[in-house]
Amino acid sequence: GAAARATDLSKVYGEGETQVIALDSVSVEFRQAEFTAIMGPSGSGKSTLMHCMAGLDTISSGSARIGDVELTTLKDKKLTQLRRDKIGFIFQAFNLLPTLNALENITLPMDIAGRKADQAWLDQVVATVGLAGRLKHRPNQLSGGQQQRVAVARALAGQPEIIFADEPTGNLDSRSGAEVLGFLRNSVRELGQTIVMVTHDPVAASYSDRVVFLADGRIVDELRGPTADSV
Ligand code: ADP
Ligand code: ADP
Repeated sequence: GAAARATDLSKVYGEGETQVIALDSVSVEFRQAEFTAIMGPSGSGKSTLMHCMAGLDTISSGSARIGDVELTTLKDKKLTQLRRDKIGFIFQAFNLLPTLNALENITLPMDIAGRKADQAWLDQVVATVGLAGRLKHRPNQLSGGQQQRVAVARALAGQPEIIFADEPTGNLDSRSGAEVLGFLRNSVRELGQTIVMVTHDPVAASYSDRVVFLADGRIVDELRGPTADSV
């Protein structure tokens, strides 16, 4: 089944002379346990697509669904709740809280939501992203790669329907980046997580199952492979 789906999704910013069609009738499906990379030139609509699918931005027309929930039918409060319960986020800047240790950072969103993390799942997540033995460390006691792995674990902790990752390796050297990408792929393979990743980097995209290319707000190409090696 589809973890998320856009159907004829359009997004227009501004009006009149300053109008920008950021997304022009985009239809795309993100299947469960699939790792999709979204590539395309700057300004092609990658961030807008991610923000619309994650309920961070309203859409102008068409449909955006997470699971079987149509985002356009939700009022602000329900949308916030859906983001909290169904969606994981990973950013380029790791966005960890410096005063909390790794484990506290990982469970923070669930603590805020008043949800109790499933301990067996947490153990599996921590093992999957290679953080055992680092849980008591604060962010400034961890390398960049390790900090991003904490952010990956934080996104996974609540067993979200889908994770959106925005240039997750943008601040990492190539070796740490490769590690993080390996752990993202492991979480798709071993934990069945669905991941959508925006990236400029063909090496990063090569870790995915499928690459969707955007240009001028439209999907212009799609590659699929065991890993989409041919990018
Ligand atoms: P990408 O992530 O591929 O670089 P974006 O989704 O950020 O592209 O932008 C797509 C288009 O929409 C660009 O032309 C950009 O200038 C425009 N755009 C994005 N956000 C806004 C905004 N808040 N207001 C007006 N135009 C925007
Ligand atoms: P990687 O390249 O695997 O991300 P590094 O080579 O930067 O990691 O770091 C190697 C080891 O040194 C890591 O396992 C980490 O525990 C430790 N380390 C890195 N940065 C710091 C730091 N600022 N404070 C304490 N320990 C650190």
